[in-house]
Amino acid sequence: MAIDGVAPRFNFDNSFARELEGFYVPWKGSELPAPTVLRLNVGLARELGLDPDVLETAGGAQVLSGSVAPEGGAPLAMAYAGHQFGGFSPQLGDGRALLIGEVIDRVGNRHDIHLKGSGPTPFSRGGDGKAVLGPVLREYLIGEAMHALGIPTTRALAAVLTGESIYRNGAQPGAVLARVASSHLRVGTFQFFAVREETEKIRELADYAIARHYPELVGLPDRYISLLRSVCDAQAELVAKWMHVGFVHGVMNTDNTTISGETIDYGPCAFIDAYDSGAVFSSIDEHGRYAYGNQPYITQWNLARFAETLLDVINPDDSKAAAEQATEVLGSFATTYETAWLAGMRKKLGLSIEEAEDLELAHGLFDVLQGKGVDYTRFFRALSSVTRGDAAMVRTLFGDPGDVPVSFNTWLESYRQRLSREKREPLSRAAGMDAVNPVYIPRNHMVEEALDAAVAGDLSLFDALLGVVTAPFVEQEGRDEYAQPAPDDFGRYVTYCGT
Ligand code: AMP
Ligand code: MG
Repeated sequence: MAIDGVAPRFNFDNSFARELEGFYVPWKGSELPAPTVLRLNVGLARELGLDPDVLETAGGAQVLSGSVAPEGGAPLAMAYAGHQFGGFSPQLGDGRALLIGEVIDRVGNRHDIHLKGSGPTPFSRGGDGKAVLGPVLREYLIGEAMHALGIPTTRALAAVLTGESIYRNGAQPGAVLARVASSHLRVGTFQFFAVREETEKIRELADYAIARHYPELVGLPDRYISLLRSVCDAQAELVAKWMHVGFVHGVMNTDNTTISGETIDYGPCAFIDAYDSGAVFSSIDEHGRYAYGNQPYITQWNLARFAETLLDVINPDDSKAAAEQATEVLGSFATTYETAWLAGMRKKLGLSIEEAEDLELAHGLFDVLQGKGVDYTRFFRALSSVTRGDAAMVRTLFGDPGDVPVSFNTWLESYRQRLSREKREPLSRAAGMDAVNPVYIPRNHMVEEALDAAVAGDLSLFDALLGVVTAPFVEQEGRDEYAQPAPDDFGRYVTYCGT
């Protein structure tokens, strides 16, 4: 199929296609009669050196939906395996996605441009290869919110309507998400070749991942164990950031665990409202495997699966020694995570000097908050008032004055004493806290409302919500409803593995 009108131009350099033959199937998206760009991330397009005006034309929509391959692209479906809810699938792969190519952005960084919902591939396993509008816009919205919160993530470049009707509990508008990632290498990519005992391919893949994400390790004799360490560090930093903002990924399978340390695949994800370490939203997570408080342990479990794929290259001659080295690296995950988590908690609490008891103070707070129905986001935002000398706002979050537990008063007293040892002037401390404790997160009830309206053809709520959550740290005039918890009649929030 030829492009309609002006062809969008990309500064492609397709290293994956060029260097890793055998790790993918060259492929094409399904042809569509008249795709249209519904939303374009204009700022991101510019960063990538793309012309937003052209991307929004018919030709742009054809490329961003996978209907026509762009000039210079090398569209392909990637092979990967993965542990899903603990059970291993030796073959998953891009069943409804296409890597159309890698672009080098204006400052020289490399990004995958990847389409989700572009049609069936050899990895579809009976699936239709399609995506529908609600989940596509959810990934757009949550990914952009995460980016604005300072959390490494894939990002949406565009949501494209395909013009098709797709059946998912009734007819839904078909859509494609064009997303950008620093790469789509996953733990599952390594697992695909490890389970087939293709050691040479694991070595190639590891060298590729090192060159792309951890170039400081290129050529080092111990680079494979160092790769494991670097990925462990990146993932520990990432999951600590999720915990800081109350994000629950919901489907932390090894095929959704990146080598780069970016968040990927926003399906049944949600932000906690009331603090609850056991919060689970996904309808299929019956046993709470991916509950909020479990996420650091699951990350470590996923990294252990990654380590297993590397053993034969870490030390080809001595598998016992390789396993010992890998175990030691995995064993340090808990400390790396705790250090990252505590560093972030100090910022949230406004602590600029480091004291040994800070960890206990932070953990103590969550012991107090557990099960009290206190809104997590509002609590931390209100904490800057405490440092300014006013604790009334945090107290009201517990309900009536009589609902404030004694344990909270005790904690508050230790917190105040701890603050008294800080050198920083209270106003500047409060400003520092407000720069890390968001006013706005994508509230579940707001997300649902916006997506329902969007699917029915009205994007005004989606646009307004996107505007609010992409400036999360600044109070916006007239936007207070976006900072409020769900009304009581919203009930328990359940998310679905949206396909
Ligand atoms: P995800 O839940 O998006 O991480 O996908 C997990 C696996 O299922 C991946 O291999 C996807 O390519 C595949 N998959 C999900 N939805 C579909 C679909 N509609 N058609 C084909 N494959 C799919
Ligand atoms: Mg996935």
